Amino acid sequence: MNTLLEETYEKLGISKEVYEFGQKIEEELKPRFEEIDARAEMNQMKVISAMQKNRVSAECFQMSSGYGYNDLGRDTLEKVYADCFKGEDALVRPQITCGTHALALALMSNLRPGDELLSPVGKPYDTLEEVIGIRPSKGSLAEYGVTYAQVDLLEDGGFDFEGIKNAINERTKLVTIQRSKGYATRPTLSVDRIGELIAFIKNIKPDVICMVDNCYGEFVEEKEPLEVGADMIVGSLIKNPGGGLAPIGGYIVGKKECVENAAYRLTSPGLGKEVGASLGVIQSFYQGLFLAPTVVSGALKGAIFAANIYEKLGFAVVPNGTESRHDIIQAVTFNDPEKMIAFCEGIQAAAPVDSYVTPEPWAMPGYDSDVIMAAGAFVQGSSIELSADGPVKPPYAVYFQGGLTWYHAKLGILMSLQKLYERNLVKIDPVC
Ligand SMILES: *Cc1c(COP(=O)(O)O)cnc(C)c1O
Repeated sequence: MNTLLEETYEKLGISKEVYEFGQKIEEELKPRFEEIDARAEMNQMKVISAMQKNRVSAECFQMSSGYGYNDLGRDTLEKVYADCFKGEDALVRPQITCGTHALALALMSNLRPGDELLSPVGKPYDTLEEVIGIRPSKGSLAEYGVTYAQVDLLEDGGFDFEGIKNAINERTKLVTIQRSKGYATRPTLSVDRIGELIAFIKNIKPDVICMVDNCYGEFVEEKEPLEVGADMIVGSLIKNPGGGLAPIGGYIVGKKECVENAAYRLTSPGLGKEVGASLGVIQSFYQGLFLAPTVVSGALKGAIFAANIYEKLGFAVVPNGTESRHDIIQAVTFNDPEKMIAFCEGIQAAAPVDSYVTPEPWAMPGYDSDVIMAAGAFVQGSSIELSADGPVKPPYAVYFQGGLTWYHAKLGILMSLQKLYERNLVKIDPVC
């Protein structure tokens, strides 16, 4: 037993009971952590290889301003992303403000009035409801005459193949597949399952564009969705691929035509990828991508640790303590606002930044109920950094994710448990 470590945790406010409970769980997870490390090693080699192939050099880190013509760093980074994620082309820009923007851009640039968008995996991420027009919003796809169809997953989480087949029609132009569960309690889709779904859809309608919302999925597996038939993957740089260093940004990688359409929409018809200054953030994009496989591995360990801790304490967790992982999100259902809030306070109290503030529920733009968010991040709202959030409504589920290092994720989870323990909201059984 490492008493010095225990003392250090104690100084941070972690009691002996909570610490010992955590150590016991961690010990049991050693074999799984080894698997995660092996996957991170594979993905690290993939990133390095893409950087070497595209001759990344110190010149790539220079700042461009104004129109940003001939920005070597920007153009090379897009080639690196294309190679790393196995696409023909990529758009990776600080002008893409977040994940929702990247997804809206990919949809709005590849759909035309009269087309139909299909989600064969149920309701998409909350913020996309306004993009699509499921909830009326200015500038939605619905306002431009793009219709939307949805086929829910079956009770057991499987694809409703019959329903999907019936939903595909002559107007179906683009299919959106969300890899991660987001704010739902369905399982996350593995890359293999996404491949199976795409094969089924392309068999019915070969020219349909299959887009994957790849948020939170990057580098969790050895394969990415473009390797199983997706035409386009979309994500945020303040999640996995930014490695915690990118201060803003989003990406679209895939078929040349899809990416081109997005570029002409992001800037302007006629301009496309040729403009868009990188304003000095480009080095963080490279360095973040370089670190991303390791950062994602730490976040994954944190998610698995949290699942096992809270499962042992009797809470419903998705994924459960033993199942395989396809994103970095961990849902814990508390069925009690007090417990949910205590959990979030613990995550906040463990942060390197803003540890002294108390998170409170608020009406966040894009969401239809109050949301509580705990994050003490270097980059505002970055959810590759240790964070927890969830809509304050039944079943009072918290979505926990991130951690730039495993050790910080561990402290966060221990601190969340500490808050519940101190308020007598959980009992820790010392024998288990
Ligand atoms: C985070 C997320 C988004 C939206 O990204 P923001 O950067 O928050 O706008 C979309 N889809 C999924 C699955 C996400 O996890």
